[in-house]
Amino acid sequence: MELRARILVVEDEPDIRRFVRMTLESEGHEVFEAATLERGLIEAGSRRPELAIVDLGLPDGDGVGLIRDLRTWSVAPIIVLSARSGEVDKVGALDAGADDYLVKPFGAAELLARVRAQLRRLTLTSPSADPVLRFGAVILDLARRVVERHGAPVHLTPIEYRLLTHLASQPDRVVTHQQLLKAVWGPGHAQDTHYVRVHMANLRKKIEDEPSMPKHVLTEAGVGYRFRP
Ligand code: CA
Repeated sequence: MELRARILVVEDEPDIRRFVRMTLESEGHEVFEAATLERGLIEAGSRRPELAIVDLGLPDGDGVGLIRDLRTWSVAPIIVLSARSGEVDKVGALDAGADDYLVKPFGAAELLARVRAQLRRLTLTSPSADPVLRFGAVILDLARRVVERHGAPVHLTPIEYRLLTHLASQPDRVVTHQQLLKAVWGPGHAQDTHYVRVHMANLRKKIEDEPSMPKHVLTEAGVGYRFRP
């Protein structure tokens, strides 16, 4: 599947910007660059990118501000570039509306894989998407609210079902603990991240072939979860 896109790269370090541009162009993407938050906003508004790659540490401000602004008018996937130490920044960026993150330093293959996953997600979540999702041996029928694994019905609790459908509806996107708590339990439970861990463990026992080595509901340490179809 060929997926070429218009991609905005907001990064102040020239070497990384150049590396990202060359990597993306090698797959046929059209790349626009910005070295500051202010320039990033201008480029985003004029170029209307289909995907944005945003560094969090910009000379004139925090990349999270750019993400918040972008999210008020654009649904384009956003991949964040972050330093290994910046876990709080990473979570803040995801909660602000970013879809995924790459920890520096990262390689070309990893960058391209993440970009491909986000572009694929765009086509998967189009309005014509099938209400029946299949991954591994699991069939999730959203219209009938039925889950099967290896052809046999799987009995999920209402919480487990909501966790699974919330994650499965946004494949390859990192969903933070806060976002899951808000979506599944409601706004009053923002601090109860242990709820998520307990119910997620039970969900994995029901849908994963090897719950201790999950293939579909993946843990993003210290951040949240990622669903891989
Ligand atoms: Ca930087």
